[in-house]
Amino acid sequence: MWYIINFVFGALFGSFLNVIIYRSVEGISIINPPRSFCPICKTTLKWYDNIPILSYIFLRGKCRYCGAKIPLRYLIVELVPAFGFLIHSLFFSLPVTLILNSLLFITIAVIYIDLKIMMIPDFAWLIVGFAAILDIFLHGELFLRVIAFSTVLIILLILKFRYKDGMGSGDIFLMSAFSLLLSIPLAFYMMVLSSILGILFAIFKKSKIIPFGPFISLSGYFLYMFSIIFLMR
Ligand SMILES: [Zn+2]
Repeated sequence: MWYIINFVFGALFGSFLNVIIYRSVEGISIINPPRSFCPICKTTLKWYDNIPILSYIFLRGKCRYCGAKIPLRYLIVELVPAFGFLIHSLFFSLPVTLILNSLLFITIAVIYIDLKIMMIPDFAWLIVGFAAILDIFLHGELFLRVIAFSTVLIILLILKFRYKDGMGSGDIFLMSAFSLLLSIPLAFYMMVLSSILGILFAIFKKSKIIPFGPFISLSGYFLYMFSIIFLMR
């Protein structure tokens, strides 16, 4: 039963993520209008057009009203958290599952939003911050975390003021929140890993501007998971 709840909640959160991603990128309010609508014909969707995963499959990826193609992204953003939450609940304890679920949630949001509009939404680092507080109750290490947090923050602030075009404030908030969650030494691995991934991305894309958010979130999410598995926390 617990596994099914996680799967369903993952799909529901994925559906909510689609709304957040679409509205953040378009610059419209997340809560207004309250009902979802087709981005092409603007028809307000009925509840049965909006069932996570199932509606996309039944409508064969098309709007019921105007026939416009719904991007495959909508299905992926519902499937990944559904299976992700399920896998977390199969292998980890309840509090760790909740932390991993929230990390996966913000990772998907940051990947789509930061790559599209080069901005990290504030809820991302706030959620990682809450996850860190929960993890302090689970695994302690308050002192080490404060050292990891302040060291990472100082390094990032120095980099920001030396190289003006380097990191955005969103990157700094997100990386600092993750270092509070990951503690020593993982916070430093996260810093190195996300920088390497970001630079590789920039080389591959031949881009001068690096959206670091996706790589910070991915590194933080996987390193937290590895820390639970291999350090037997
Ligand atoms: Zn439509």
